[in-house]
Amino acid sequence: MPVTATRWLAEYAWLPEHAEPTPDVLIETDGGRITAVTPLLGAHGPDAGVDVYADAVPLPGLTVPGLANAHSHAFHRALRGRTHGGRGDFWTWRDQMYGVADRLDPDTYLALARAAYAEMALAGVTCVGEFHYLHHRPDGGAYDDPNEMSAALVEAAAHAGIRLTLLDTCYLTSTVDGQALASPQRRFGDGDASRWAQRAGAFQPTDAHVRVGAAVHSVRAVPADQLSTVAEWAGERQAPLHVHLSEQPAENDECRAVHGRSPTALLAEHGVLGPNTTAVHTTHPTSADLTLLADSRTGVCLCPTTERDLADGIGPARLMAEAGIRLSLGSDSHAVIDLFEEARAVELDERLRTRRRGHFTPADLVTAASSAGHAALGWADAGRIAVGARADLVTVRLDSARTAGVPPVGAFFAATAADVEQVVVDGRLVVAEGRHLSVDVPAELSAAIEAVTPR
Ligand SMILES: [Zn+2]
Repeated sequence: MPVTATRWLAEYAWLPEHAEPTPDVLIETDGGRITAVTPLLGAHGPDAGVDVYADAVPLPGLTVPGLANAHSHAFHRALRGRTHGGRGDFWTWRDQMYGVADRLDPDTYLALARAAYAEMALAGVTCVGEFHYLHHRPDGGAYDDPNEMSAALVEAAAHAGIRLTLLDTCYLTSTVDGQALASPQRRFGDGDASRWAQRAGAFQPTDAHVRVGAAVHSVRAVPADQLSTVAEWAGERQAPLHVHLSEQPAENDECRAVHGRSPTALLAEHGVLGPNTTAVHTTHPTSADLTLLADSRTGVCLCPTTERDLADGIGPARLMAEAGIRLSLGSDSHAVIDLFEEARAVELDERLRTRRRGHFTPADLVTAASSAGHAALGWADAGRIAVGARADLVTVRLDSARTAGVPPVGAFFAATAADVEQVVVDGRLVVAEGRHLSVDVPAELSAAIEAVTPR
């Protein structure tokens, strides 16, 4: 449903640079942008007996900026709850993930991504960064349109009502020492980085809700001498460039054995790091790695619920923040789609590691979940409730069983995705009264997952 000029009266709104939410804020939007933000300072609020704001749409609860899910593999949603029975680690989980990857075609990919993105909308996500490497047919051959799978993701995000940064991922080899892709990885590969660049460059969607960026899958998947091709492709376009980095100690060990340096140092040497680059995970960096990331103004996207699900470890979030590294958040494998949970995990995981509390303020967590994530995805004009910003407004109930009695400043430590009551994306109402306006999310998830999972 399109929303043109609208006045919203937020009971509480989390404004930029504020340590806590501000009560009674009039937010005016027009044409997908925020045109005015006026804290009423109690003088003219709904309780003051003044009726001049009677035309404003009330937003009871806490309204926060649009949340950005900076790291997603949409098809992993099909694995939720299916990989928890046995023992194993990241690598055994990966075999199960490949089983789903092998079964997808453009139609089932569209259905699954549409449902997963609609689940994100319900959780207050207004923009997703899709780290996309399911490019080709299962045997590695191209579809008639070599970017048909990318187009499916663009369509999925449009149906779900959220913005998409399609991070077209270069994935060429299966090991750091350059072994060839074997089934079921063959559909990920373009042969070499030049052919990847050619295919990725041919995909130029004009839809307003999408941007195209690039990704290096990891130092396992792109040979060192081809890294700069991907970096230059992104640099020429000023596009976001993402890379999985040091998620596993084994990746670090193999990189040192083959290249004599850490994955971060290898990326730095080949021009992959920089202000438009986001390193995903960075769970096992050295202190020299952190210096390289900070000096190059590379951001880091943490995915705490996936990292714990996959037994990856705990990334040094506090050290990164102290080094000035911008932190964003992603739900990655979608074991959970809940940016509140990702955000508080950044603080709570530090507590487990250090046995001390208070490493990040609530406002730090809001920034990671909103403006920092949007910036990492190339939408610098989103993720803030401020004049000129995109009209993304996420309203969280403060009267649910989870949030009743919680002061607004504590919402990111109490709320879950289920407490998101209303979501406006670029001025359009996408979620109202906790329901997606165009997608029956549970029904579509069930059908889409059943179509691609073994009985
Ligand atoms: Zn990932």
